[in-house]
Amino acid sequence: MLLGMWLVANEDRVSTATSKIQGIIGVSTAQAEKSKKSQQAKTKQPKISPVKARPLDVYFPNTEDLAKDEMRVIACGTGMPTTRAAQAAACFLVELGNGDKFIFDIGSGSAERLSSLQIPYDYLDKIFIGHLHADHFGSLAEMFIGGALMGRQKPLRIWGPSGPTPELGTKYAVEKMRQMYTWDLAGRAGIVDFRGYALEINEFDYKAENAVIYKDNGVTIRSFPAIHSLDGPVSFTLEWNGLKFVFGSDTYPNKWFVKFAKDADIAIHESFVAVPDLVKKMKFTPEQALLVGTQVHTAPEAFGKVMSEIKPRIAVAYHFFKDFDTTAQVNDRIRTTYEGPLSLAEDFMVWNVTKDEIKIRMAVVEEHTWAPPLAGKAQAPGGDKDREQYSKDSGVPVDALAYSDFIIKGRWGEVDEVLRGVYKEASEALGQEFKYPEPEKK
Ligand SMILES: [Zn+2]
Ligand SMILES: [Zn+2]
Repeated sequence: MLLGMWLVANEDRVSTATSKIQGIIGVSTAQAEKSKKSQQAKTKQPKISPVKARPLDVYFPNTEDLAKDEMRVIACGTGMPTTRAAQAAACFLVELGNGDKFIFDIGSGSAERLSSLQIPYDYLDKIFIGHLHADHFGSLAEMFIGGALMGRQKPLRIWGPSGPTPELGTKYAVEKMRQMYTWDLAGRAGIVDFRGYALEINEFDYKAENAVIYKDNGVTIRSFPAIHSLDGPVSFTLEWNGLKFVFGSDTYPNKWFVKFAKDADIAIHESFVAVPDLVKKMKFTPEQALLVGTQVHTAPEAFGKVMSEIKPRIAVAYHFFKDFDTTAQVNDRIRTTYEGPLSLAEDFMVWNVTKDEIKIRMAVVEEHTWAPPLAGKAQAPGGDKDREQYSKDSGVPVDALAYSDFIIKGRWGEVDEVLRGVYKEASEALGQEFKYPEPEKK
């Protein structure tokens, strides 16, 4: 492949050189045309036309079938807790040739990245959270509520670690998130297809060492402890069809990662902003920069040591702001301790992994996306039945799940006529009677 590229470049160079020489020595146009034709016939150069499609070195979502033995990993967040438009916080999507998809961490801003891939939300229903920092699960609510609104017709399934006390575990955090959105959910019950507005929480022991936490359809996901901030964080491995994906979430270099991440085809591990840049760009004091940059997180030099030990087919460094003036620091420091294959991750980097090859590209996505196709048929809103069920589940009295007389009386009736017109228009266009809701009735 590399040789082929060089050959094409050389042919271009030869042909340019020939026409220059022809210009200098004054070969007649007819002669030049003849020799050009015979040269073309000999070399059979591809005709590159500006109106013909040709292979590109980028990934356009939903234009490539995944091979049966192929794994595709897409970075949907590679940044930091401090938000920025250029990089969302931690999130990696794993897609497998058997059709399964898994999300590892769902950091702030990552839901937008996932939506731009236009994957039906029924297939984005499995999220594995490595630890409960906002930059690793800050977009969970958007996947829960926005994901249901974008067509998920089943519960969102979440896996995450326990903590040293129940309040420091995933179950507590996610249950409280659901409670925080009580008003939101109460207003939707009865007026939308409510099947997607449900959560399945799977909390597992954070101290378990290489324990299986998921096993289905040939996919095994294991968890082991990580060292970061407090007790509780974990790292994951996903094994399928002889391929091994490893995701560290956040961690100080630890013995479990060195042991259980061995033989990874793709190993993703944090590599934090270099200490001098924490001072210069993040405005940390030197004391704080040293502590956060080397003790709470993994410094680039330490990332390199870890990767030299586990020797993955590709090492992926993330969790730093990848700018023109900070990337060299991270790269150079990693390279003091690691010489192997390396990706410095940024959002929308894509790895296609098979046993024979790892192809690395950037995805080019649409930003103005709407809901992707539905995986199944939508159901009509459940009305009072859904309201009664939600009232039971949440403890909110069913009467509160509709407007009070006080609010109903505040409706400005002058718009009634034009809104009835919209119903009439829909009824005529679709050949079906849509009854206008009478505002007087609850
Ligand atoms: Zn963290
Ligand atoms: Zn983090």
